[in-house]
This record gives sequence, C-alpha cells and structure tokens, in this order.
Amino acid sequence: MKLDPELKLQILEKIGIYSNRFSIPEPTVLLTTKEVLDAPKGMTEGRRTSAYKYYGVAYLQHNLVFINIRKIPDERILEDTIVHELIHMRFPYLAHGKRFNRLVRQGLRGKSFLPYRKRYTTSTI
Ligand SMILES: [Zn+2]
Repeated sequence: MKLDPELKLQILEKIGIYSNRFSIPEPTVLLTTKEVLDAPKGMTEGRRTSAYKYYGVAYLQHNLVFINIRKIPDERILEDTIVHELIHMRFPYLAHGKRFNRLVRQGLRGKSFLPYRKRYTTSTI
C-alpha cells in the first residue's frame, strides 16, 4: 500500500482502538523501513535490517511496532497485521500457533482483553 497522511492517520487510529481493547499501552509505531533503520539500534535489535521481509514486527521490550505498509497489499492484511502485532504485545509469552491465531481472530472480531499481569513467584512474603 502507499503510505500517505490519510492512511497514516487511519493506522494510528486503529492502533489506538485495538490497544484500548487489548488493555495495552499504545506502542510507538514505525511505518517505513527507513524509520526502523533510523530508530536507536538497541530498540530494533534482532529485526533491523531484516524488518523489510515481514508485514510487521513487534519489538516487545521497547513497546515498538513496525507495520510494513509498503509490503502490505490491501486493507484486510493491514488490519490482520495490526492485530497480529498488538496480540504479541498483549500476550508476550505466546509463540505463533493455534492459540495465537485464535486470539488474533478474536481480536479482529472486536474482543476485549483484560490487562496482562505478570505472574511473580515468590518464596517470601
Ligand atoms: Zn508474529
């Protein structure tokens, strides 16, 4: 797709809506490979020069998401990609798989999720 100011606004709006539903802080969004390369290296480590290969990348530690607009062919895949990356943010412990895909489908259908709470194990109180 071609990135123009209108599309950019739409994307940021969608990310705002889904972030709310998924109870996650709104991530910083990168929309071009140039922005990925310009970001501090520590933030995009591991998926920096390879980011262009993917529809999207979630940099969980830095609450940063790359949506590869140029590679994304249409609006449906754009929506899928946004929800996919935000599900990574909400369920950081989940790898790709059946459960992950189910959550993406639920997210696309408008489901809300309660905030993620880390489970701490403690031996003392
Ligand atoms: Zn993924």
